[in-house]
This record gives sequence, structure tokens and C-alpha cells, in this order.
Amino acid sequence: MSEPLIECVPNFSEGKNPDVIKQITNAIEAVEGVKLLFVDPGADMHRTVVTFIGGPPAVKEAAFQSIKKAAELIDMSRHKGPHPRIGAADVFPFIPVSGVTVEECVALTKQVARRVGDELGIPVYLYEKSAPQPHRQNLAVIRSGEYEGLADKIKRPEWKPDFGPAQFNPRSGATVMGVREFLIAYNINLNTRQAKYATDIAFELRQRGRSARKGNTDPIYLWGEEILKYKQNHYPCGLDDFVGKTIEQTIEHCRQEHGYDLIELLEANGINPKTPEGASVKIPGKFPHCKAIGWFVPQYDCAQISINLTDYHVTSMHDVLEETRLLADHRGLVVTGSEIVGMVPYPALLETGKFYLKQQGRSAGVPISDILNTAVQSLGLRDVGEFQIENRVLGLPHNPENALVEMKLADFIDEVSRESPAPGGGSISALAGALGAALGSMVCNITAHQRGSQSVDKILNEAAEKLQDLKCALVKSIDQDAKAFNDYLRASRLPQQSDHQKQTRFQAMQQGLKTAVNIPLETAQLCLQTLEIAETVIRHGNPASITDGAVGAQVAFVGLKGSIYNVLINLKDIKDESWRHQIRQQCSQLENQAQNRLNAIEKIISENLR
Ligand SMILES: [Zn+2]
Repeated sequence: MSEPLIECVPNFSEGKNPDVIKQITNAIEAVEGVKLLFVDPGADMHRTVVTFIGGPPAVKEAAFQSIKKAAELIDMSRHKGPHPRIGAADVFPFIPVSGVTVEECVALTKQVARRVGDELGIPVYLYEKSAPQPHRQNLAVIRSGEYEGLADKIKRPEWKPDFGPAQFNPRSGATVMGVREFLIAYNINLNTRQAKYATDIAFELRQRGRSARKGNTDPIYLWGEEILKYKQNHYPCGLDDFVGKTIEQTIEHCRQEHGYDLIELLEANGINPKTPEGASVKIPGKFPHCKAIGWFVPQYDCAQISINLTDYHVTSMHDVLEETRLLADHRGLVVTGSEIVGMVPYPALLETGKFYLKQQGRSAGVPISDILNTAVQSLGLRDVGEFQIENRVLGLPHNPENALVEMKLADFIDEVSRESPAPGGGSISALAGALGAALGSMVCNITAHQRGSQSVDKILNEAAEKLQDLKCALVKSIDQDAKAFNDYLRASRLPQQSDHQKQTRFQAMQQGLKTAVNIPLETAQLCLQTLEIAETVIRHGNPASITDGAVGAQVAFVGLKGSIYNVLINLKDIKDESWRHQIRQQCSQLENQAQNRLNAIEKIISENLR
């Protein structure tokens, strides 16, 4: 439901000259629809990390413009710095934040990469989720040999760039570009100052696990007396008493009995699986895409488990927090709360809020702000600091400042009553539909999770969730309808002196009319869905609230009728005969279906009110 939003975190090979950095960030900020979030210059590393966000087209343009500017200003043949680097615009990650799929984001990086290659003559390597081959996923592997080794590397067939010339560009080097997931920096606080307790839990959580021990490992595994080692003819599993004669036997055992890949685990711990002898036996942690360590934070006077979640779709904040609560309890500890460092994507916090509502047996069909507040409370995000949703959540749905729906109710009614033609019947129809959906949701939430409501809870929870989505869509239509009308008016005021002008004006007005038809048509469809669910709500809802449900159905019906009036009046002046016919048919179908629903609802109501 939220706007499409992508974050970029490019690293440029300039950390000393503020003027150069400023010119690059200016090129980003010059693109409308892009917001520069952070600029983090590092003089020691001689590189700068920039963070910006925006919608897909804006981000695409800003990415290209910043790479172009970096190519103009940075000469890699003079660059020296301790951090590994391969080019002026060294690495350019694209991160889908909300309303964009990974696939859409990958397609977008390829468009940018092609343009950088073609127009700027800079070789581009695609990495992470954009990588065409597995050996190109890892940034460190692509960057090994660095700028200085690139002239030779680029000639090798396996290192032919994905876009741009397969030829060394001495001034700009190469750019590594690709899609990765949002990294959530998430810390969990414990009621202790002992960093070791936090470390003990961190090792249970993190993907790369820990060294296996023996003797007195419960409840604090780190207190275990002996660290197991791999030896010739002796390869313990570590989770149980199994000992392989060869490492292959143990690899097979781990796969069969415990379902994990020991080769991957050893490699993640920097151990060569072919020659593990002498190294500690490793056992895996509980969560993939999870890195964790324990430390003491003087500022908060408590120990923390400091966690990086590299794919929250796989391992979420609530997954690790709930597991940590169990692990802490087993060790006689208490989780006092948790902390998000920096920003968090809206979908991540929303999912967490829904998870906790469901844990409590509550419906997730409540306003978005209630869901997010539940997440903040349940994670205990205000334990050691402030957490303001508006400042910390990326991709939070919001209305423009001058939106009608941001007005006070009395002011809105006054605005309707003035001589200006918008907001008019179209916006009011959308508002009626939104109120219908809201009333339906209210009846669900009043009824569900009360004594004796178990048999209908599931039906009503699902209904409430759908009604909340419909409510949000209909609220959006209130402003869309007014905007469509204003766009049409603007087209009608275009000049009409020459034939060419007349033609342009005619086409713009026709296009405006089609939009002014499509928006109320969509509103009517949303109202019909609201009406359909209203029938379910009235059948299963609390009889004491039946009239609330009935009022919701009536206003949703008004919303549908009003929307269709608006479709029809705008349809009259459209010249495209067959399109007009098709829309008219859709309208009469919608009206019939809605009338049937309303009749059924009125029948139930009159039986109940008798
Ligand atoms: Zn085992």
C-alpha cells in the first residue's frame, strides 16, 4: 500500500576534499523526488558513504548523475587509501525499501549499469542479487586485486564486465552495482552488565554459530570446560556424541541428522573444510542472515546483543527477540528492551506489529499507526532511547501536506461548501466508501476476541484486515478524484490558436477525461468490495452493533452510486465510442451487484430490528 521507495548507499573514492563531495551530493539532490539522508566522509579511508532515497525513476537518474559527476572529478590514477576500492564510484548498492520487489530493483540496476557503460565508458560489474553468475555475487571477490589489478583482470574472460567496455578506464576504474536487502542494525538489551552473557546468547543466534564445548555447558555454554577440536581420524559433530572417522562422514552426518551444511559453516568461520585438523569444532546458530556479538554499552550501563539482520524477510526482529527472551530466561536473565540503530523499513515494522497483535489473539485489521505502535511497544524500542516512528521508519505512507484528508473535519466540510468545483461529488463518494469500510472494521473489532466469539474470530479478523486495506485505498481516492478534475481543467485552459495547439489541447482533454473516468470507476469497485464484506460483517457481527454495520453498508452504497454518476458525466464527452460502451457496461454490472448486496443486507437488518 505504500509508495515505491529505493535506498542507495554508494561509496565514492574521495574522503578528503569537501568540495568534491559536495558537488557529487549536489548532483544527487538536483534530481526531483530524491532525498539525501546521510553523507559520511572518511578522510582516513579516503572514501565517502552517501545515503539517499526516492522513487524508482528519481533514484535511477540520481544514481547516474552522481556516477557521472564522480567520473568528472575523481582521478583514480592518483587515489590512495587503505580501504579496498576499484573505481571512483566504487560500489553502488540499491536496496528495495517498500512497494518495490527485488526483481523490479534488479531490472532498474541493469538500466543504470547499461547507461553508465554506454554513456560514460565505465565498466560495470553486477553483484549480490543482480549478479548474473554466482562467482560475481561477492563484492570482495569482484574487488580483489583492486584498481591497480584491474587493467589485467578485465582482460580475462571470466572478468569481462556486465556492462560497458571490457577495457581498463584509468581515470574512473570500474563500478560495482547491485541489489541487496536492507540491513537492520538491531540491538537487544539485557538486565546485566556482563558482556559474556550477551556473547553467549549472540553465539546461539548468529548464523555462523560457535565452537563446540563439552562439560558443564548448561545454562551458560561459554562456561563449558573443553573446546572440541578436529583431529586426524576424529571429527566430532559437536551437537551430539557422533564422531566421524573422516570429515566427509561428519559432513554427511550433519546434513542427514541436523539438516545443515557443515562445509558452509566451516567456511563462514574461516576454516578450510578440506583441512580442518587443529581447528575448533563448529556448531551452527539458529538464524540465517543474522550476525551477532555481545558487548557492554557504558552509555546504557547494560550488556547488549548487537545484531545485523541482512534479510529481514527471512529473519525478522521479532524472530530473534522472541528466541532471545527464551535464551535469556534459561540463563536467569531478562530482556529489558531493544534498539534499532538508524532507520528501519516500513514493511519490517508493520510485519512485527502484526505478529504481536496475532500473538495477543488480536486482529491486525486496525489502523496502520496502531500496528506500528504495537511493534514499538512489543520490541521495547524506547528502553534506552527515544524512538519516533515518523523519524525512524523509511517508506512510511503519508499524505502530501496540502491533501484534503489532512484537513480538519469542519474545515473540509466548509471547503466542500465553497464555490470551487473540487472537492465535489467524486471526493465525497470516495469519503463515503472509506467511512463504510471503517464502520465495517469497527464492527469486526468490537465483536472479535470477546467471550464466546471464538467461532467467528477468524472470519472477522480477515474481514477487518481487508476493510483496513479498502479504507486506505478509498482515503487515497478522495484526493485523487480532486486532482483528476483539476488536471482536466488545466488541459481545457491550454491555448487553442493554431491547429496544432487545438489538436494538443483536444488530446490532453481526452486523456484527462479518461483519467477522470478511471478514478471514480476504481472507487466504485472498492465500494462494491466494501459492501460485499459488509454483508459478512453484519451476518457475524455483534447484534448490538448491527446498525453500525448497516450504516457502513448504506454509505458504501452511496459511495458506489456517486462514483458511477461521476464516471457517466465524464464519459459523455469522450469520443472513443467502443471504450465508452465498455465502461457503461461495467458500470451497470457494478450497480446491479451492489443493489443485490444492499437488498440482502436490508433484509437482515429489518428482520433484526423488528
Ligand atoms: Zn550430530
